[in-house]
Amino acid sequence: MAQLTTISTQDLLSKQRQFLATGQTQDVSFRIRQLRRLRQAVTANQEKIVAALKADLHKPIFESYLGEILSVHEIDYALRHIRSWAKSKPVSLPWEQLPGSAQIYPEPLGVVLIISPWNYPFQLAIAPLVGAIAAGNCTIIKPSEISSHTSRAIAQLIESAFEPDYIAVVEGGVEVSQALLAERFDHIFFTGGNQVGKIIMAAAAQHLTPVTLELGGKSPCIVDADAALDKAARRIAWGKFMNAGQTCVAPDYLLVEQTIKSDLLIALKSTLQHFYGDDPAQSPDYARIISDKHYQRLVDLLDKGEITLGGQTNPEERYIAPTVIEGVSWADPVMQEEIFGPILPVIEYSSLDQAIAMVNQRPKPLALYFFSENKERQAKVLRETSSGGMCINETVMHLGVSSLPFGGVGDSGMGAYHGKTGFDTFSHHKSVLRKPFWLEFPIRYPPYQGKLGLLKKIIFGLTEG
Ligand code: NAD
Repeated sequence: MAQLTTISTQDLLSKQRQFLATGQTQDVSFRIRQLRRLRQAVTANQEKIVAALKADLHKPIFESYLGEILSVHEIDYALRHIRSWAKSKPVSLPWEQLPGSAQIYPEPLGVVLIISPWNYPFQLAIAPLVGAIAAGNCTIIKPSEISSHTSRAIAQLIESAFEPDYIAVVEGGVEVSQALLAERFDHIFFTGGNQVGKIIMAAAAQHLTPVTLELGGKSPCIVDADAALDKAARRIAWGKFMNAGQTCVAPDYLLVEQTIKSDLLIALKSTLQHFYGDDPAQSPDYARIISDKHYQRLVDLLDKGEITLGGQTNPEERYIAPTVIEGVSWADPVMQEEIFGPILPVIEYSSLDQAIAMVNQRPKPLALYFFSENKERQAKVLRETSSGGMCINETVMHLGVSSLPFGGVGDSGMGAYHGKTGFDTFSHHKSVLRKPFWLEFPIRYPPYQGKLGLLKKIIFGLTEG
């Protein structure tokens, strides 16, 4: 396969446009072959991917498979459904448009750009690519430079499976990203933080390029009095401390009904002991913070509040123990910014209305978690809050359901993907009306004189006035 280092961004784009113009990606069988090829490449490279994730994040092997290589399921789901997704869909015509027929044709958007972050660096590059391939696009991927080992592994995997005039990886940091953004793409799919999201959208606006923004934010986790506390604690601790809290949909903070707070904290303590032992620094199942900068940001967040569990840190290893803090206020930095690390603030509430009000006073989150066995209260939280996605009595797992669209709302993003939604995100749905010549209604043509009455009858109904 051709080496990318010598090819400029502009050359690459123009090569991809030339390839697109050959029409090969229009053929669904071609797309199926490419999805299979991607699957084979992931399978063949799994050990390299795991090693790269270990080097970048000290990611446990189990979490590398569960949170990253599991993207193979997205490929399989697309392979099962692509023929039906790619079919044109007939729609009905109003009687005054008859005779004729109307169909919606999904067509590729063209050449698309995927910019991905460092926290699930493999999955967040590959899962959008599945939608892009399924929809028949050419793709350039710009992985995060911060997870540099995984960036390299992705580039090698893609180079081993695809010609760069079809799918290419361009590695590098902010300058490379900005050089790409200066070009005209047909769609930009960005996963990352809100501040960079605004830069992406502004750059895309220069070319009127549509964007999908998969952003972050503070995802609340509400634990009500009647939740099964031991199981809730396990699901919360798993969602929060997996990947050392560097998960976009990790529960950012807990809102706990005041009468069960101490019981929940006891359950969290024994859960963490069970997960990671007496010293999580020695556990093979606990990740590290990605960089010194992020480590320092997280350590600074521990200044306010009272540490109830954990709190140990080690700058050499960029280790921060699974930590629970209490006594924080909404004005503290830990409650102002997305934590994105293994620090779990706990705030009490006295009524569910109060908890809902706390959530609704803040930007719409990417995920909201509610633990309660009471169906009415589940329905109340569902109805009275807005978030990208929601789990009841669970955390994080919703993003593993390919039939559920995954994306944010408001500050947590725009657009969505996974499964058919991914296919739709990377497709244009072209509306097509077909008419025969054998029948003509001359009423619509000038001269209009004497025709207005009939038009009004058509608009307002033949039986009226
Ligand atoms: P980031 O926004 O700093 O970087 C993401 C990508 O943008 C990287 O590839 C980076 O090189 C590029 N980039 C950074 N600055 C840029 C600039 N000025 N111009 C152009 N490109 C630039 O995000 P991150 O730190 O890698 O990831 C963490 C954030 O991502 C968190 O906010 C997290 O919640 C969010 N996130 C969201 C999801 C989701 O699915 N919604 C998933 C993972 C992470």
